[in-house]
Amino acid sequence: MHVEPKKDYYEVLEVPRDADAKTIKRAFLKKARTLHPDVNKAPDAEERFKEVNEAYAVLSDDQKRANYDRYGDPSGPGGFGSDYVDVSDIFGGGGFGFGDIFDSFFGGGAGRAGAQARTRGRDMGIRLTVTLEEAASGCKKTVAYTRLAPCEDCGGTGAAEGGRARTCERCHGTGRVVEVQRTIFGQMQTQATCPVCHGQGQVIDHPCETCEGQGRAPSREKVEVQVPAGVHSGQTITVSGKGEAGVRGDASGDLVVSVEVAESDRFERRGDDLFCTVRVDALQAIVGTSVTIDGIMEGEHVTVEVPAGCQFGQQVVVERKGMPRMGMIARGNLVAVVQVETPTDLTKKQLLDVAALVAERSLDAEPDAKAGAEKDAEAEGFSAAAENAAEHFAKERWHAPRNPFRSRK
Ligand SMILES: [Zn+2]
Ligand SMILES: [Zn+2]
Repeated sequence: MHVEPKKDYYEVLEVPRDADAKTIKRAFLKKARTLHPDVNKAPDAEERFKEVNEAYAVLSDDQKRANYDRYGDPSGPGGFGSDYVDVSDIFGGGGFGFGDIFDSFFGGGAGRAGAQARTRGRDMGIRLTVTLEEAASGCKKTVAYTRLAPCEDCGGTGAAEGGRARTCERCHGTGRVVEVQRTIFGQMQTQATCPVCHGQGQVIDHPCETCEGQGRAPSREKVEVQVPAGVHSGQTITVSGKGEAGVRGDASGDLVVSVEVAESDRFERRGDDLFCTVRVDALQAIVGTSVTIDGIMEGEHVTVEVPAGCQFGQQVVVERKGMPRMGMIARGNLVAVVQVETPTDLTKKQLLDVAALVAERSLDAEPDAKAGAEKDAEAEGFSAAAENAAEHFAKERWHAPRNPFRSRK
């Protein structure tokens, strides 16, 4: 499949790199209008509209534009905690067609025959990344994004001071006009969206300059989002009314926050269970021990009871110390995977004690068939070897001793 290289955002909008916000906005509106499906029947019109939309989303946002200029990527070198995405990305495009995106900028019925002029704001999507700890305890997060918000200059009415809405003279308030075209088949009548009021049926005497009579304008917004405890990646939180503002005071869409839970260094999440590793010394593994670790909740200490005779890789389950189950008091389990480590810091005496133990176990393992005298000799040999070992360990610098008991056969 042939993939086009990503186009430069400035080239897409055909603006100079030092263009100011107003120039960018005008260029965007102009471009977007020429790509209107009524006007532009080219098969790539939708694709191009998306490009224009994406370019505008970046270049109209000071921070993203600065990042784009500097790094060639709107999210910057490290990225932000959240970023603007079209809601259709999150939902795989289902239910949010081209028309919806287009309409939200122009408030028109976009010429779909018989469609009611759409003036409600559309829903918007945004991604939010939280740590596993934040997902466990639940948290409040502030997300920043750019939306079409009610215009501050005109209070969302779209009219400048002294201006007012009146019925569109061109379409007499219907929002549609009939056009007559001459074709080789004769005259053809087609219905189209009124070019004067863009399907609104009303025009404003003195439209507000800031919003060009839309009653809404791009604005950088901050919204606080309550992330519930136990949230999983991909779950969404809806903040009602924080999507795009409607045209001239009509209802706003919602902001749909899609939560991403980052991976943790300490725990691996499997459903609501948390897996981690605990290290215990081989001697502790033999007799059993308890290890206290920091839990997933702030200030939480979890005691892992490692049983006597614990093997490498054995799993010890601590019930109800995993992730909270969303919407419930219950929690998943914590599963500690035991890593047995051989101690390398024993004192000489401890080493001798272990050596004696090892020797004793190897003697016990000898078959009973041996004669008594032979056994006595063996025991004598053992104590001599132990003395040799003691001497060996007593030296100022000692090397890991060869097993003094193994040589005797
Ligand atoms: Zn305004
Ligand atoms: Zn009209």
